[in-house]
Order: sequence, then C-alpha cells, then structure tokens
Amino acid sequence: MPIFVVQKHAASTLHYDFRLEIDNVLKSWAVPKGPTLDPHLKRLAIQTDDHRLEFSDFEGVIPAGHYGAGKVIIWDLGELQNQTYEGEKPIPIDKAYQTGKITFSLKGKKLNGKFTLLKTKENKNWLLLKHDDDAAKNNYDITKEMPLSVYSGKCIEDIK
Ligand code: MN
Repeated sequence: MPIFVVQKHAASTLHYDFRLEIDNVLKSWAVPKGPTLDPHLKRLAIQTDDHRLEFSDFEGVIPAGHYGAGKVIIWDLGELQNQTYEGEKPIPIDKAYQTGKITFSLKGKKLNGKFTLLKTKENKNWLLLKHDDDAAKNNYDITKEMPLSVYSGKCIEDIK
C-alpha cells in the first residue's frame, strides 16, 4: 500500500509538507495552515519539489544554509488509497496527478477519510479539501489539538 506523510516544518515560515507516494516518489505540497478535517474549509497547498520515499522517515533539523533549514517533525504518517474516478471508471493516481485532480483516502493516526487535491488555474497552487464523511469534523482544528510527532511524541520546539 502506498504511503502518505505530513511533516510539520518550522522553516522561515511554519508550514506542513503534505506528501503522497505517486510514481515511487513523494509528490509534495506545502500547506501553510496545515490539513483540516473540516469539510467546509479549503486549504491552499502549494506544489513543491518531489522528495525521495526515504524522506518520509525524516524528523530532525535541516541545518542552516541548506534548503528548508529548520526543524521537522513527522506530524502524521499512514496509508494512501487512490479513489479517483471518472464516472464509473477508476483513474490511476499518476494520471489523476497529471490532470490536476486527485481523490484519495488516508488511514493515518490523525488524518482519516477522503480528501481531494485540486489544481487551480494559478501556477503550483492546489486546494486540499476534506470530504464530508465519517472522519470529517466540523469546527475542529486538528493542527492545534494534535500538534505532536506521531514518530517521537515530541513537539517541534523540542527537536534538537
Ligand atoms: Mn517544507
């Protein structure tokens, strides 16, 4: 089963790196406000560079002077399942990615249920949407309620 990972990243500005395993790499988006379980909200997700699959294990400090310098925790990690259809016809996730609309479900410690990533007309800007399903939670800020690493239990300030 392919994976997803969300890394909370205290770079020059705090953001959440949302990564999906597609075509043997981690396709990546920076989500300034972080993912949400609230189906009424849309989160801006700015496409960033692909990362190697092994990077899903990374928690620590990217040293000063390097790209993305700052602290990183593994905020969530789990299974990714493609759910993209065109009518009745399943669309492979790599094709969905190319066409700019990926529907998928996540089985993580924090994020669960169905989501869609939708490309906008603006270069590199996508929207991350939560579907209204059993895992949806209205008026709930999961980044505030569940700030810790699922890997170490640490908060990002405690990473050395
Ligand atoms: Mn980042």
